Amino acid sequence: MQALRFDGTVRLEREAPPPLPGPGEALVDVHLAGICATDLEITRGYMGYQGILGHEFVGTVRQSPEGTLNGQRVVGEINAGCGECDWCRRGLQTHCPTRTVIGIQGREGAFAEQIALPARNLHRVPAEISDEEAAFVEPLAAAFRIVEQVPVGPLHRVVLLGDGRLGLLAAQVLALTGCDLVALGHHPEKLALLEARGIRTAAPEEVPTHRADVVVDATGSPEGFAQALALTRPQGIVVLKTTCAGRSPVALAPLVVDEVTVVGSRCGPFAPALRALAERKVDVRPLIAACYPLSDGVAALEHAGRPGVLKVLLDCRA
Ligand SMILES: [Zn+2]
Ligand SMILES: [Zn+2]
Repeated sequence: MQALRFDGTVRLEREAPPPLPGPGEALVDVHLAGICATDLEITRGYMGYQGILGHEFVGTVRQSPEGTLNGQRVVGEINAGCGECDWCRRGLQTHCPTRTVIGIQGREGAFAEQIALPARNLHRVPAEISDEEAAFVEPLAAAFRIVEQVPVGPLHRVVLLGDGRLGLLAAQVLALTGCDLVALGHHPEKLALLEARGIRTAAPEEVPTHRADVVVDATGSPEGFAQALALTRPQGIVVLKTTCAGRSPVALAPLVVDEVTVVGSRCGPFAPALRALAERKVDVRPLIAACYPLSDGVAALEHAGRPGVLKVLLDCRA
């Protein structure tokens, strides 16, 4: 099969061996896969991962344990836990110490014609959600993780930093809570996508410092944390969604003095993401910048890495 592999450089492999599903695993024919900032960071050394890239996908199950999922259109959670440790037994396989993560850690990814992953990771996609929309379920779930971790409601002043791929999803999810939200970014054309949905936006310098109850950093930049901190009120909460290969130089004393809570936030629940798409409560379609065939995957990754480009999809159907 064809696959897009990173082994120090990104290259198209024309005859990659198809994945062999292990016990409890399903084999999925990938339709579409989305390129995200994490994929680009991996090609800069993040996680030290080498292998087939990609973790955002939608596909059809070809083979599953006892055939129960065969023929179903699915999306998949990306963390595969051992199933036996304390974390896994508590349903927290995202923190299993021996987990693999598709396209990120110890497990081949979705920029390929086929992918294998545990059947329990799969979620059926309802018919009213298109393939293009379903390719966003994984990052949209990561946006729903914010409101799973931090109680946000109509009484809260919330600032969302970053108008990139994840920022535009996180803003739409935060808006569903009825909070007093402002989304900050430097790209008027991207902020306009949020304005069109009734979400207030501004340039970062227009917002008063030390006012917000909750600030979400979705900048994808090492500077995001310091910016978020400057906007947070004493005893407020900073939610970090940014994962960079680089380090963030932040003075810690203001965190102590202002008693700020910092919440790291990674993968989230698929069910509310699927529901929000099915019920048209979020719109991901304006985020699609381009769709390339898998065979042009190297060019697609290059396109996704250009400044200001939102979601680039790969069509992985042979
Ligand atoms: Zn991602
Ligand atoms: Zn485990």
